[in-house]
Amino acid sequence: MKFDYAPAPESRSIVSIKPKYGHFIDGKFVAGRKHFPAINPATEEILSQIALAGVAEVDAAVKAARKAYTITWSKMSGRERGKYLFRIARIMQERSREFAVLETLDNGKPIRESRDVDIPLAAAHFFYHAGWADKLEYAGLGTSTKPHGVAGQIIPWNFPLLMLAWKVAPALATGNTVVLKPAENTSLTALLFAEVCQQAELPAGVVNIVTGNGSTGALIVNHPGIDKIAFTGSTEVGKIIARAVAPTQKSVTLELGGKAANIIFEDAAIDEAIEGIVNGVFFNQGHVCCAGSRLILQESVADEVIEKLKRRMGLIRVGDPMDKNTDLGAINSKEQLLKIRELSATGDTEGAQRWSAPCDLPKKGFWFAPTIFTGVTQAHRIAREEIFGPVLSVLTFRTPQEAIDKANNTPFGLSAGIWSEKGSRILWASQQLRAGVIWSNTFNKFDPTSPFGGYKESGWGREGGRHGLSAYLKGVGHE
Ligand code: ADP
Repeated sequence: MKFDYAPAPESRSIVSIKPKYGHFIDGKFVAGRKHFPAINPATEEILSQIALAGVAEVDAAVKAARKAYTITWSKMSGRERGKYLFRIARIMQERSREFAVLETLDNGKPIRESRDVDIPLAAAHFFYHAGWADKLEYAGLGTSTKPHGVAGQIIPWNFPLLMLAWKVAPALATGNTVVLKPAENTSLTALLFAEVCQQAELPAGVVNIVTGNGSTGALIVNHPGIDKIAFTGSTEVGKIIARAVAPTQKSVTLELGGKAANIIFEDAAIDEAIEGIVNGVFFNQGHVCCAGSRLILQESVADEVIEKLKRRMGLIRVGDPMDKNTDLGAINSKEQLLKIRELSATGDTEGAQRWSAPCDLPKKGFWFAPTIFTGVTQAHRIAREEIFGPVLSVLTFRTPQEAIDKANNTPFGLSAGIWSEKGSRILWASQQLRAGVIWSNTFNKFDPTSPFGGYKESGWGREGGRHGLSAYLKGVGHE
């Protein structure tokens, strides 16, 4: 028997979106010169006009950050800095519904996820780092640690506020000031965060937010007044940034792409593993750098897993992200949708078998049904390249060693999943896997105390935990 759901739309009346935004520099909003539209990917509605920062705005933001660093922030005790971080965290919690609705309108992710995952985790990052601000000498990173100075931070569109929190909270806790650029598709929650900084009475210039596209990002990366770059985004842009900072004194952390293996051994609890597979690749429309986008199944259970997985995928509710029952929302942009379509088409032409869950996709907006490819080989592009969408590639193995070899046969190394009821097998496999984060009998779990980052082309450095603090301190991070 199949039950239907009545619509359960979240109200958008809690947010007030301005028709046009400027930049947040030196504690004030300053008007932009050129603008580009912010689009709701679920409806194609233009939500607002976002300013495009050029040389003058980036320079003003860097100067404001330097002044705040020299005059206020570097002179302030960790205890006082911590108070500001606690205040920001509490305000984010108080305004969490506003943030969640705005994030969903701007990004296309289901309200259930922005409400239950993105916003609470973003606040948790500020709480966690607030606690470190006056205890840095006990972090095991040396007793006289020093911040870098001004941090330039560039973030992607998949977890807009959460990625901001991952960047801003450790930078401020360790005594750095910040110039942050949100992704061009998702600037609105960063601009609301700027209001939170004002509300928390954060000293002017400690956080500066300039909006814009890759050209603005490049201006930040190449600005001589920046001491440290923290970037999350594509491996392609990560390589450009690594080249740009190589001849400079700038410290850099990069959190880049992934093509995670989710390995199911035959002794795994299959029904739980199905939930883990679904969460691993369909969470946030698969717009997740650590998504479990390669399912590596032991041959003896492959048929059972695929059959159960298809049945489960048929229950995924795709549609209006503002509906509280929606599981899979809109693809973030038309451009991303075209990329997903293009890579999926190579799966067909290279000989894999496509299956998509039957579902009615809305007429307006950008949508892609949850899809799996079976019969995938290691040579297929869909097994090698990051799709960044709700598309799963299924490979099989016979021996545990074959599973590890296939899992590691990738230029990436961000995350991996292991499903088995045997502790010894889990420990053995996790020692063989070349991935920064390994989940066992679960997937896509995040916590501010837990370092996150990659091997190989997935990046440099870690974010979160003590390891993440070191990236914002001189002499102890990845220089
Ligand atoms: P994606 O492919 O996920 O959109 P990108 O790496 O293109 O990821 O974008 C991530 C962030 O990097 C965005 O904020 C984007 O504006 C910025 N960006 C893009 N190109 C550059 C560049 N050449 N230098 C610095 N930042 C850039």
